[in-house]
Amino acid sequence: MSFYDEISKLDVDKFRDLVDSRTDADVERALAKNGKKTVEDFAALISENARRHYLNVMTRMSEQITRRRFGHCVNMYLPLYLTNLCNNKCAYCGFSALNKFKRVVLTIDEIRDECEAIAKMGYQNILLVSGENDRRGGMDYFRQVLPVVKDYAAYLQMEVQPLFEEDYAELKTLGLDAVSVYQETYHPGFYKKVHLGGKKADMRWRMETPDRLGRAGIDKVGVGALLGLYDWRVDLCAVALHLLYMREHYWKTALSVSFPRMRPAAGGFQPTSPVSDAKLVQFICAFRIFDNELDLAISTRESAEFRDLIIPLGITAVSAGSSTEPGGYAHKGKALEQWTVNDSRSVGEVVSALESSGFDAVFHNASTTYFKASGAV
Ligand code: SF4
Repeated sequence: MSFYDEISKLDVDKFRDLVDSRTDADVERALAKNGKKTVEDFAALISENARRHYLNVMTRMSEQITRRRFGHCVNMYLPLYLTNLCNNKCAYCGFSALNKFKRVVLTIDEIRDECEAIAKMGYQNILLVSGENDRRGGMDYFRQVLPVVKDYAAYLQMEVQPLFEEDYAELKTLGLDAVSVYQETYHPGFYKKVHLGGKKADMRWRMETPDRLGRAGIDKVGVGALLGLYDWRVDLCAVALHLLYMREHYWKTALSVSFPRMRPAAGGFQPTSPVSDAKLVQFICAFRIFDNELDLAISTRESAEFRDLIIPLGITAVSAGSSTEPGGYAHKGKALEQWTVNDSRSVGEVVSALESSGFDAVFHNASTTYFKASGAV
């Protein structure tokens, strides 16, 4: 029985009513509850009533929980885009096979160049990202790529196509620490509508990936939805349910959640359910209060001002100086980027902003002191 089997028994659209029907008393009950919370509690925390009457309480509580659990450290990670080649036809993504542009698959030498450039920026926490192409960017490719990247990465994450359980187990032996696989939307009808072709159109295959990762013993698994794609009330409650399921079935696996809001991309797809800044603040706090142990990440999709505001509230991992273009660190401007970066500050500028708010930017086993000594600031 997988998570897909469990959620398939539900009408996920009912999450909308669940969120809308939460009262002030429900919010207060969720905030006062110690220990494990339910999806009903989570629904209360993301409700309109919570936003209108309890947002200050939520931000204070989220900040306190985060400092107690994670101190004043923020982990710095950097995405390394391996390829923009993709067989899938996701209506909302610039890399979709529907869009005509030059496709690039980085060679091993180009990956080494990227890693050198990334190392100069001070990073040891690298997130490998790719489109989905099993023939040119599948396991045979990853078997060559990981040993090279591992020479530079103390912590190695992937955000690539869903793989088989035995593939994940093999990649773990090559140094893989964490994998994120975002469901985009948990609504079956809408999922079908925006995934127009390719393997990603198989919702079960994608949604069962965290199960396969848990069974393969990958240390950390990231889940989430693409905010703005479908109704956030439905998708966020489904993410909360997914987290509860993962905690129950794979208790050794650490979990993370990201908050990707839709950004302009080639193809011109517009968000159907935009998420305002106030809502995103509320959602970050809601996840922190819902599950105190979660790693919460925010990327450069968000603006500098907004990131500076929300990082203290509950975020534990950020990227900075990112490129979403394959080869974009060593040879910028040769390929299409997946989405437009919104916070274009340098790593040094982000680190300075973190430090001025009293945080240590952690480059995995490398302190800020090392980072400064590298001359990258
Ligand atoms: S979202 Fe991912 S799978 Fe879909 S087209 Fe973009 S790169 Fe490919």
